[in-house]
Amino acid sequence: MMGNRVYNFNAGPSAMPLPVLEEIQQEFLDFNHTGMSIVEISHRSDAYQKMQDETIALLHKLLNIPDEYGITFMQGGGSMQFLMHGANFLKHRGGYINTGVWSKKAKEGAAFYGDVYDVATSEGEGFRRIPGPEEFDLLPDTDYVYLTSNNTIHGTQWQAFPHIDLPLICDMSSDFLSRPVDVKNFDFIYAGIQKNVGPAGAVIGIAKHSYLETARQDLPIMLQYKTFFDHDSTYNTPPVFCIYFVNKVLHWLDERGGLKETERINKEKAAFVYDAIDASDGFYRPHAAKDSRSLMNITFNLVTPELEKEFVSRAAEEKLIGLKGHRSIGGCRASTYNAVTKEACERLADFMHRFRKVH
Ligand SMILES: *Cc1c(COP(=O)(O)O)cnc(C)c1O
Repeated sequence: MMGNRVYNFNAGPSAMPLPVLEEIQQEFLDFNHTGMSIVEISHRSDAYQKMQDETIALLHKLLNIPDEYGITFMQGGGSMQFLMHGANFLKHRGGYINTGVWSKKAKEGAAFYGDVYDVATSEGEGFRRIPGPEEFDLLPDTDYVYLTSNNTIHGTQWQAFPHIDLPLICDMSSDFLSRPVDVKNFDFIYAGIQKNVGPAGAVIGIAKHSYLETARQDLPIMLQYKTFFDHDSTYNTPPVFCIYFVNKVLHWLDERGGLKETERINKEKAAFVYDAIDASDGFYRPHAAKDSRSLMNITFNLVTPELEKEFVSRAAEEKLIGLKGHRSIGGCRASTYNAVTKEACERLADFMHRFRKVH
């Protein structure tokens, strides 16, 4: 590990692959022999276009995205999508599988454009689990069903996605490219990149072309998904540096063996931490139900908030950073995104064992 870099378990923005950071640093002054930085060249130049085309091709390859889907880059973060998906696709009624803070916010964002309701929710149980299909309650005139693939704050994740006879919209912000996904099961996917694939400032959208055709068009241009997809992300200046960064991360993922291999590594990594929790005789109390556990965000409590505070500060003394839970639910959280190394997770597990013994 380089110099004073730490073991970073931040929830977002979060750890990025070190080889990617180094490569970007190296070519920051001269992008692809242009004699200019990537942030200094025109988004209408050939050099830029080539890079963006390659990024999109790599996304198609890694996620196995069929040709009937388009890909675009947008700004405004995940939160802008809470509004935009509703603006484009909510005509009568939007159904939400409410699994936590982010799906709730999406529902509230879309409510500006029509009726919204919970198809299912685990709110009564502190969002500890992902509801099963037998719990779904669909109302007539539902335009789409919306879900959040990984609940960053509560530490739950869909293990298998439901098949529903309606358009399916998914927020994959916090587990995008962490595992293979059957894109064909969805009509619209979006992911803010700052959790797993780049710096804050861009959202990747993946849409089925035929579904895009159904979007409302009586909207301001910058609220219409079609504007971004039809203009190949360059209706206006795209988030150039973000896209370039994603390009590097995609190469890194591809070179290490793609999403299957990435999922295998992520499982191995998360197991270190979950095993430390499960072997602790109740010292560490997992927030998520076992069958809903996230491979990306591992949430747990200690007996008292004071002990949690001490856990976080002692961990920081060993360069294990970012373990405080989200302000809305407290407790502790270890985010083990793609770029978090196996070594980091082993160190955390080892620290957890030692901390328990001392207390
Ligand atoms: C972080 C996060 C968001 C919010 O993203 P912003 O870019 O901060 O608006 C939305 N959804 C999920 C699942 C997230 O993890």
